[in-house]
Amino acid sequence: MNPFASLKCFMLLLCMCIAAGVAAQQKQITAFPVRGFCIAAPQSAGVDPFVKFIKEELASRQVNVLILRVDYNYQFEQHPELRDSAALSKADVKKLVRVCQENKIRLIPQINLLGHQSWAGTTHNLLRVYPQFDETPHVKMPAKYVWPNDDGLYCKSYCPLHPDVHNIVFSLVDEICDVFETNAFHAGMDEVFYLGDDKCPRCGGRDKAELFAGEVRTIRDHLRQKNRELWIWGDRLLDGKTTGLGMWEASFNNTHRAIDMIPKDVMICDWHYERPDKTAVYFAMKGFRVVTCPWRNAPVGAAQVTDMTTFRKDATPAMRENYQGIVQTVWSDAESFLTGFYNKKKDAKTEDNTPWNCFRTVFDK
Ligand SMILES: [Zn+2]
Repeated sequence: MNPFASLKCFMLLLCMCIAAGVAAQQKQITAFPVRGFCIAAPQSAGVDPFVKFIKEELASRQVNVLILRVDYNYQFEQHPELRDSAALSKADVKKLVRVCQENKIRLIPQINLLGHQSWAGTTHNLLRVYPQFDETPHVKMPAKYVWPNDDGLYCKSYCPLHPDVHNIVFSLVDEICDVFETNAFHAGMDEVFYLGDDKCPRCGGRDKAELFAGEVRTIRDHLRQKNRELWIWGDRLLDGKTTGLGMWEASFNNTHRAIDMIPKDVMICDWHYERPDKTAVYFAMKGFRVVTCPWRNAPVGAAQVTDMTTFRKDATPAMRENYQGIVQTVWSDAESFLTGFYNKKKDAKTEDNTPWNCFRTVFDK
């Protein structure tokens, strides 16, 4: 081979190597650290079909985070009085733990803390058994729930300053984290409308942002003792009025200032279901790691994936890892989701706007 030819050969090889290197680097930049899925934990009878779904559908799509909303659907041993009447056994949970371990999926259990202590006309277990923790005991649960109502009742909250509440709540948190063998816990903390109520002898008159931030910090500090990470929904940290995002997707009671009062190692799940709002940038610039969460609108979910890719690609190295990826959320129970997913059932009202279509779209992308 003449020297020119070997030089040409060498140069070609070098170019190919550089191109491959650039492509690999680009792929590393745009690949999401979190490819998540969030759903209510199945009932005991639904565990085996759900394990199959994890194996066949989540693992094949390289889903690597599974948030299971457990709440009181576990046979708690420390506080059996708080169990749902039908609740997952330890053996049920271990089946979920094993399949996630086998498929390298980080399993994160959720119990709603602070808010969401009731739904419509039903009080959930914590306040039903311990009514003294109710932030608004003067608000009576209606026989027939309607929204809007004179009390502004969306969901009840527990009083974050009640001296006994954390003893009980943290016992549940520890037990659920232990049985799920996890290093992260999702505390919900979304849509907290009742906070710092004027009639609460402990909270009345206090700054709602400080109350919210105080509760986040208390939970986070508790988890840190066992090297566990706190995940929360992001809506209370957004200003609903200035952004036009409204009172569900963001805060109308001034809790948004808490964004500057909470530890930066709290993971933010930033949900937007109607539009691909770019609030991930706000969280990332404040120094938080953030995942964007779609629900049932597939075009919005697709746009959120594109946005997250762009955020990572265009970010400074200092901010890039704050853009952690996507978590597909499902707001039904696991059983109805699986029915919809496998039967490709169309909801007459929403047609193609289903969580399973959104899930397929997001992970195909
Ligand atoms: Zn209170």
